[in-house]
Amino acid sequence: MKYISRSDWGALHSGKPLKDFRRKVVGIVIHHTTGPSDKPWDRVRGHDKYHVKTKKWDSIAYNWLVSGESGEIFEGRGWKKGAATYGQNSKTISISYIGDSDKELTALGKETILTVVRAIRERHGDHLWVKCHKDFSSTTCPGKTLSKWVHGGMDTSESPANVAIDWGAIQRYIIDKGNAYLSARILKRGSRGELVELAQKRLNDLTKANLKVDGIFGRKTGDAVKKFKSNYAMKVNRIIDKDTWKVLWTV
Ligand SMILES: [Zn+2]
Repeated sequence: MKYISRSDWGALHSGKPLKDFRRKVVGIVIHHTTGPSDKPWDRVRGHDKYHVKTKKWDSIAYNWLVSGESGEIFEGRGWKKGAATYGQNSKTISISYIGDSDKELTALGKETILTVVRAIRERHGDHLWVKCHKDFSSTTCPGKTLSKWVHGGMDTSESPANVAIDWGAIQRYIIDKGNAYLSARILKRGSRGELVELAQKRLNDLTKANLKVDGIFGRKTGDAVKKFKSNYAMKVNRIIDKDTWKVLWTV
């Protein structure tokens, strides 16, 4: 992660000075910029130009911008008052994810957002809440994926940034575990347990099933299995047998 100051990336001078917060900061609001996520320096400059030249604002609206590609943290209005969240700007600090969170929200991006959240809380207090732009206006910002993560408590446990994970080994372990169990049985509606939970997680990763990961094989899990199987050369039904398991973990 690398911090890029306004002067580093070349923020435009509008001639209007940025203003200090006069009220207590109570929360943090997450946005995304939409558009491409590559070349974050160009994206930040592009948004700055749009906000300053086209909209005639004092500066780029966001307080901080985060790249999920590079892990770079760009100072927007920084610790001065922002303009990204109508009605909330006098008491909140905004962080914008560069790009469209529904197209690419990376583990690095999440970690970087959390780094900024920690820095803001260090300065303004641990009690600061974190919400999404759409919690305050009729907008889709910051996209479904990012909103879900924020509303879910911003967990990064599935992808700790500093730990090297041997995904291959985990995958082999899961396949073997399933094979052992599924040689004699199948998973179907009513099944419960860890394998169902793993399948639900995997279906959520591979499809838009959006299943509750509770280890209980219900109607929705069955529907997701059927939909998943229809994409592959398999008999299409709502059960997970040994073959389904293998496809599920090797596609
Ligand atoms: Zn927004």
